Amino acid sequence: MQARHLRFARYSSAMPRPIQALIHPDALRHNVAVLRQSAPDARLWAVVKANAYGHGIEQVFSGLTGADGFALLDIEEARRVRALGWRGPILLLEGAFELRDLEACSRLDLWHTVHCEAQIDMLAAHKTHVPQRVFLKINSGMNRLGFAPHQARAAWTRLNALPQVDEISLMTHFSDADGPIGIVAQAQAFQRATSDLPGERCLSNSAAVLRQALHARQSRQSLPASDWVRTGIALYGGAPDFGQADASDTSLQAAMSLRSKVIATQQPQAGDTVGYGSSFVAQGPMRIGIVCCGYADGYPRSCDTGTPVLVDGQPSRTIGRVSMDMLAVDLTGLAGSGQGSEVTLWGYASSGALLPIDAVAQAGGTIAYELMCALAARVPVVADAALPQAR
Ligand SMILES: *Cc1c(COP(=O)(O)O)cnc(C)c1O
Repeated sequence: MQARHLRFARYSSAMPRPIQALIHPDALRHNVAVLRQSAPDARLWAVVKANAYGHGIEQVFSGLTGADGFALLDIEEARRVRALGWRGPILLLEGAFELRDLEACSRLDLWHTVHCEAQIDMLAAHKTHVPQRVFLKINSGMNRLGFAPHQARAAWTRLNALPQVDEISLMTHFSDADGPIGIVAQAQAFQRATSDLPGERCLSNSAAVLRQALHARQSRQSLPASDWVRTGIALYGGAPDFGQADASDTSLQAAMSLRSKVIATQQPQAGDTVGYGSSFVAQGPMRIGIVCCGYADGYPRSCDTGTPVLVDGQPSRTIGRVSMDMLAVDLTGLAGSGQGSEVTLWGYASSGALLPIDAVAQAGGTIAYELMCALAARVPVVADAALPQAR
């Protein structure tokens, strides 16, 4: 299989640094299937905002064409999805920011969210002969975007009267789908606000889909059905419920592996320190590897000593502070490891061993979403990377 070093193709004579982000379309396809099983009656939006959660829209597209549509925020990203040949639905999750965005919606055939009166005013002012499909957003408790429940009916009535508007769907977004508060109260608030309004319903994000699948198995508790679900993180193999569950519980597969190499080794003795600020002090003789990956690659600086890594597929940990271009890992006791060893920062090692990105995020006090999105532009991306076979 030929690896495509997309961003470095122009400099074919120069060797890039050994760090690479590998994108696994088979994992994306697998995760689409898992989510379809979890929400068998719903259509599936593949959420590809923020450049497909850092994976790259062009790199994930082939793995996500089994979804029913693509949801994102940015008209330029919508244009890229159309340029890849997608003729199905595309939804702008925050809708139009200004009137000319609605012209782009007409030109690119985009569906869009309507979350405030100003967006209805824009629609009323939009000159088009082809009415647009809109998703009316209700604020069921997140208090970010959307009409208050008591305004839902008036907003729907106003939209419904506009010749610029075609079908109206109803949407809300949960604030606590991956936490102890859960989704029941918000789902009920949404249902009360919209019970007498026609139109398709679009409620669940990844956490809500996986949670509802679990509920349905455990308690038969019935929550309002989604005609559409909007899944992001789970497509990429992140576990929305990390802490209570991890990705292996949901059989999701990692869509990205971040790998680098040991480019130097050191043998600190007891009392020696490692890295900036001397935050790590060796307790005895040890062997460490210096890895070509730093915070300028998107690896979080908050991942201090003890963050899990894989060295040649074997579990190990980071040592000391992450610097801009490098970090250190513990090689003590890892037979055969040294200069040139493969280091997996998250995802699959070439041996097939998995380091869940959630475990790395947890060690750094953040969430997998942030790690994925922070992947830096300087990291070469290998599209179409095969999933390694576990040995
Ligand atoms: C980002 C986003 C999603 C996807 O959420 P995940 O937790 O990644 O599944 C769904 N709906 C809206 C409105 C979003 O902004």
